[in-house]
Amino acid sequence: MSQPIAGAPNGESPSLERPQAPSPEQAIRPDGRWLAQVQAASGVSAGACYGCKKCSNGCPLSFAMDLHPYQVVRYLQLGQMDKLEGSSTVWICASCQTCLTRCPNQVDLPRLMDWIKEELVRRGQAAPEEKVRLFHQLFLKGVAKRGRVFEGELMAGYMLKTGGAFGPEAIKNARMGLTMLKKGRLKLIPARTKDRRWLKALFSEPKGGSHA
Ligand code: SF4
Ligand code: SF4
Repeated sequence: MSQPIAGAPNGESPSLERPQAPSPEQAIRPDGRWLAQVQAASGVSAGACYGCKKCSNGCPLSFAMDLHPYQVVRYLQLGQMDKLEGSSTVWICASCQTCLTRCPNQVDLPRLMDWIKEELVRRGQAAPEEKVRLFHQLFLKGVAKRGRVFEGELMAGYMLKTGGAFGPEAIKNARMGLTMLKKGRLKLIPARTKDRRWLKALFSEPKGGSHA
């Protein structure tokens, strides 16, 4: 049995005050239809989660998140996507798969986090971790183009948009790029997948589309 999580995920001390009971107007009305749509579009059985918190207890980045991973699933179960709109959690998730490995119900949280990111981008929501959102978009753009990431293009695009290509940062980054080239960690010619049809299908609009 997993231990209860101590404190808030972002390291703040939990309040010891008993929370006020919500009024009937404030009470949450779960929207089960919405969960079915999320499951169909993401391919993740979020409804199988029973809140054991094993995912969150094992997550190496939950200390930096404002919502625990299990809370993300809970909000989806309740149809409260709006609670995720300003949250840092999906942008901080590193897709390390620890939560999926620990989950007794095989709820694919990393995949769900990715789906939520895309959904928030589709809705035009600003991300609290703006640089992470930019990196995510450039990464996916590169994969959609070639089926593989071309690190040189990715980093050049990222640095141009975040200021790393100018001033003292540029010199530091150029040195790092040269070191990586020498060690064979950076390629000059991008690789691409041969199966273009598969790649096109992968990036076509998912079944169910967007859920506004
Ligand atoms: S996602 Fe899995 S590990 Fe996390 S609370 Fe739900 S059932 Fe437990
Ligand atoms: S995949 Fe994301 S949510 Fe899951 S353990 Fe890793 S960082 Fe945490």
